[in-house]
Amino acid sequence: MDFERARHEMVQTQLKKRGIKDRRILEALSEIPREEFIDSSFSGLAYDDGPISIGYNQTISQPYIVAKMTELLEINSTDRVLEIGSGCGYQTALLARLAGHVYSIEIIQELAEKTQERLTRMGIKNFSMRQGDGNLGWIEEAPFDKILVAAASANHAPPALVEQIAEGGKMIIPLGERAGKGILGTGEQYLHIFSRIGREIISSRVFEVRFVPLISPSKGS
Ligand code: SAH
Repeated sequence: MDFERARHEMVQTQLKKRGIKDRRILEALSEIPREEFIDSSFSGLAYDDGPISIGYNQTISQPYIVAKMTELLEINSTDRVLEIGSGCGYQTALLARLAGHVYSIEIIQELAEKTQERLTRMGIKNFSMRQGDGNLGWIEEAPFDKILVAAASANHAPPALVEQIAEGGKMIIPLGERAGKGILGTGEQYLHIFSRIGREIISSRVFEVRFVPLISPSKGS
């Protein structure tokens, strides 16, 4: 399979045609080898227009969603970014290209270890990763200019994450219940943006999405 060709095709048809405009994102996604983030048995699907299983009942997000969430965050080169749900690290690799430093939390130990290794092997240096419950954020490093949550929180945004948004910063997070069968289920979920302006938090709903649920160990789910 010609990955390079498939990658350029993906950028053209899935990203540009659907309105992704940020040149830095288009450039980065023309270069980041998505095939290296998934199991080799799925590499034929690497540039497909959808999520792919990464094991442990989790998925790598659809390229368009990765690009769109990142674009909505308007990341600057000095930003300190917190990512919840590192998964295979594809989104982390993109954030690291755009931001000053990325702090990424993954709850599944094996994924956290593999992903840290993978990103290090790829020569990415401006990231820190740890295993843990992202609902709590990363208190030692807070606040963050931008926060990206890659799993859906059932009802409301975790309060610790809202607190860890820096003044003038913002967070993007899918909210909504999962219902039905399959990894992604059929429940209604919407992407939300939370912005901190002075002491106020302003939130807005963006569009409907489908994410795996944000695991809440404290609630036993
Ligand atoms: N951007 C990732 C998305 C992976 S799916 C990628 O494209 O690969 C969501 C990820 O969130 C999964 O890896 C899952 O294990 C992780 N996750 C779920 N609940 C979490 C929590 N409470 N804290 C940290 N990570 C969590």
